[in-house]
Amino acid sequence: MVGKPLNENFRIGVIGAGTMGRGITQVAALGGLSVVLTDAQEGAARDARGFVEKMLARAVERKRLEQKDADDALGRITIADSLQGLADCDLVIEAIIENLDIKKKIFKQLEDICRDDTILASNTSALPIAAIGAECAHRNRIAGMHFFNPVPLMRLAEVIYTPFTDGAVIGLLSDVAERMGRTPVRVKDSPGFLANNAGRAWYTEGLRLAQEQIAPPEDIDRIVRDAGGFRMGPFELIDLVGLDVNYPANKSIFEDFFNDPRYRPSLDQRLLFEARTLGRKSGRGFYRYGEDNAPLIDPEPDMPKTLPKKVWIWGHDKTARAKLAALAKAAGVAVDTAKKPSKGTPALLAPRTEDATASALAVSADPARSMAVDTLFGWETRRTAMTPPGADESAARTLLALLAADGTKVTRINDSPGFIMPRLQAVMTNLAGDICQQGIAAPGDLDIAMKLGFNYPEGPLEAGDRLGARLILDMIEALYGYYGDDRYRPSPWLKRRALLGLSLKTPERTSGSSS
Ligand code: NAD
Repeated sequence: MVGKPLNENFRIGVIGAGTMGRGITQVAALGGLSVVLTDAQEGAARDARGFVEKMLARAVERKRLEQKDADDALGRITIADSLQGLADCDLVIEAIIENLDIKKKIFKQLEDICRDDTILASNTSALPIAAIGAECAHRNRIAGMHFFNPVPLMRLAEVIYTPFTDGAVIGLLSDVAERMGRTPVRVKDSPGFLANNAGRAWYTEGLRLAQEQIAPPEDIDRIVRDAGGFRMGPFELIDLVGLDVNYPANKSIFEDFFNDPRYRPSLDQRLLFEARTLGRKSGRGFYRYGEDNAPLIDPEPDMPKTLPKKVWIWGHDKTARAKLAALAKAAGVAVDTAKKPSKGTPALLAPRTEDATASALAVSADPARSMAVDTLFGWETRRTAMTPPGADESAARTLLALLAADGTKVTRINDSPGFIMPRLQAVMTNLAGDICQQGIAAPGDLDIAMKLGFNYPEGPLEAGDRLGARLILDMIEALYGYYGDDRYRPSPWLKRRALLGLSLKTPERTSGSSS
């Protein structure tokens, strides 16, 4: 039997007292677990304990922790000078440098030092857990326990199993994560594990939108924040974490999935990475940064004020049409009710999946005097509008004036099937479907991982259900048809549930059925 019951005598060993190791030590001790911390560098473990002491003192100062609880937690942390000091541990979490050969060696050494029932877990962000344990004799007790940085603030812990891991080990690690105040999600050993895999959709589609000149990074970020409800846009976040972290992660997940175009990285990003303009820390990345390290962003252009005399409107459904009609009414602009726009009347269109070009042509509007607006995302917060190439600028300006007449912000982008947010959402939900289809994680865990690990306002499957699986499928099929790029191939998970009218969280079989 691997793994001892999680009682007050349960002891955790942590190897590596760096950024992650000290955070893991802190949350474990606060969760009432005894921790033995060790590091190859002399004095590092002692320094880390001192760091945790400071963090606990700060929490007491801010009245988030009682002094006694801080003292008790600190009292549970001991230091070992070598791996030998972990001999007694029930679980060892390795958080050393990200190097496969060194991690493999440590795991092999741990087999000799620890008891046979000690669970051995790695906090690696990207190395396969099965590869770390490849040379071990007892692979049934090896698993991943992936925390997020900064550990005390990030409440997610991915518990990763290989084909050899005992089910009991995963159960125990999930209990340990809960004791540490984290929310565990179970993940199959696979590239990027869960959050870092599912999170690629948002990054790489954002990068693709910029690469394709649909909008510059600052406008994509504005739309993602204001219309999508994300705390940050992809470019702000990439610059914050650093292109030296994000680009290699994008590239390695792409390569680890055998160059699946779903994960294709971006040439623009590679260029910045190779030029060592790594984001905030280099003073330049996708943004340039001023002396106070704030991004230097041009103010948004003022919206034109001159309204069209008349407007012709078309929406993909009743709700979209009603939004456009209400807008025109409130602004006092007459609506041209002819079947096709009368000569010279600009057309305001609300397509669902098509770009402005295709939707203008489909309704026989003059593409040069047409503008499409996203009615699915950001109607109240930031509208996204786009025109076909060759648009008549004076007509476009009157339509922008109409879109902005009630004071709502408007961002104009270049033509794109699915604007920005609907397209990002479709790609995120579609990849989430693939992840579920491959059994990498359960649908509920996937949504939790994206909310806790990446601060998404909604899980990708939850958001898909809110908008409707059928709509997401239509969007992804439209992108696939438009670009003919395998990146947009519909996930079987999404397709079946959309066709059946089921929630995207519906498992393959309902519980209780025999497998
Ligand atoms: P870090 O550089 O801050 O700390 C690593 C520590 O390990 C150092 O103190 C170093 O002295 C020690 N060390 C190196 N080799 C050792 C050995 N052979 N034996 C004992 N100690 C050794 O690194 P980190 O950011 O804490 O990352 C640690 C692990 O966690 C890596 O595998 C990383 O991929 C993973 N991880 C990091 C993050 C993050 O954002 N930093 C997030 C999730 C996972």
